[in-house]
Amino acid sequence: MVVQKFGGTSVADPDAVRRLIEIARTARACDGRGPVLVVSALSGVTDALLTMAAEAGGGRTDGALQQVSRLRERHLAMARALVSDGALAPLCAEIDAHVDELDAVVRALGVRREASPRTLDVIAAMGELLSSRIVAAALVHAGLPGEWVDARRAIVTSDDHTRAAPLVRETTAALRAVVTPLIDAGRVPVLGGFIGATADGHTTTLGRGGSDYSGAIVGAGIGAAEIQIWTDVDGMLTADPRVIPQPRLVPRLSFAEAAELAYFGAKVLHPSTIHPAVERNIPVRILNSRKPEGAGTLITADPDPEGGELTAMAAKRDLTVVDITSSRMLMAYGFLRRVFEVFERYRTAVDVVTTSEVSVSVTVDDRRHLDAIVEALSEFAEVSIEGEMALLCAVGDRLRAEPAIAARVVRVLEEVPLRMISQAASRRNITVIMPQADLPHAMHRLHEEFFG
Ligand code: ADP
Ligand code: ASP
Ligand code: MG
Repeated sequence: MVVQKFGGTSVADPDAVRRLIEIARTARACDGRGPVLVVSALSGVTDALLTMAAEAGGGRTDGALQQVSRLRERHLAMARALVSDGALAPLCAEIDAHVDELDAVVRALGVRREASPRTLDVIAAMGELLSSRIVAAALVHAGLPGEWVDARRAIVTSDDHTRAAPLVRETTAALRAVVTPLIDAGRVPVLGGFIGATADGHTTTLGRGGSDYSGAIVGAGIGAAEIQIWTDVDGMLTADPRVIPQPRLVPRLSFAEAAELAYFGAKVLHPSTIHPAVERNIPVRILNSRKPEGAGTLITADPDPEGGELTAMAAKRDLTVVDITSSRMLMAYGFLRRVFEVFERYRTAVDVVTTSEVSVSVTVDDRRHLDAIVEALSEFAEVSIEGEMALLCAVGDRLRAEPAIAARVVRVLEEVPLRMISQAASRRNITVIMPQADLPHAMHRLHEEFFG
């Protein structure tokens, strides 16, 4: 039995949901049961919800409430297009109940003028609650035994609102109590991705793009045979198609390669997606919901025996490089510990690190605490920061055994003013940092050299 996760564009409108239904029907015919479906919010809805929260929090309640109405209309129109007869009224009532709650939260926010992370999660979760209700009812209408599951009963998380971490033991127990009996009873469970709740019932979200992660958590929890990520591209591509016009499809990837690509910016997979799959050794497949007959990308423990010199590349923008220099202290033990303690104190992840005799350079993505970090570091070192930097990461299992590949990556980028170069112990990637303005050119050069 498989878990199928459908992203925002794969549930964007009635036609997309009809395609989803046929994809689920095929899987059910093939396996004789399931599948379990995990769905994102309709495309654009999470952005709209967060904009609404910002508007209400800024006192522009009327504008926010107009958006609430538009959202209600969009979901009701979807319901009417997909469901009819006796099932329509109950579905519309469910949609209204969720949107009424949203309306009330937005009004309260307009008065309080301060959006706590906990309130933001209640608002952001509405997108997946609504989409999963509609998909479950649409399945039933199409003759499949869809059954809506409140994902907040199945995914138990920490209380780090807006980027909560699933608690594995509790979530596995909850999934076995809530989802497994439905599968055994021959149903097709439908859960909203991205959302969960703390053990005491507060709604949480797993971070932007987190529905992929939900799909993998559900797949691992119920012991699925495969986790399928249905999206709007043919699979993992050799580069971001928004920058490189004709990237190639990567037919096979190892878990380790996929994790590196996702972590370093390949948006098609949320960075945490691979972990649950690795733990239970469950294959992950990325597929195009507009072309369900395609083979997609298969991700397993083993690298592709027929893979090229590089597997793919990924990039991240809007990074800040922090240079920490201390002629007195770098050689002293304890210096790096002090540096990283500062980042830890402000819960800010560091992506890439390079060192020289007197300095350490790190890149950070999350700028929220940058001022405080610089101040704390300045107590024992000289600190300078440089924004608008980008990271380009070339990934491939063959980099480990063939050093000439890494040398070629750097040589191809000789005209690009590289600020940092890093290859970590896994040696599965080589990562370079450059001014953001140079990124498109660097990507084109690298892509042409290795995939052209
Ligand atoms: P979904 O809504 O289905 O989760 P996302 O927008 O999150 O879809 O991810 C799919 C998008 O990821 C693609 O449309 C593509 O623009 C982008 N993308 C970036 N890098 C890659 C890559 N290496 N391979 C495939 N897609 C990529
Ligand atoms: N809807 C959420 C987002 O847009 C989660 C997801 O789609 O993966 O971030
Ligand atoms: Mg996504």
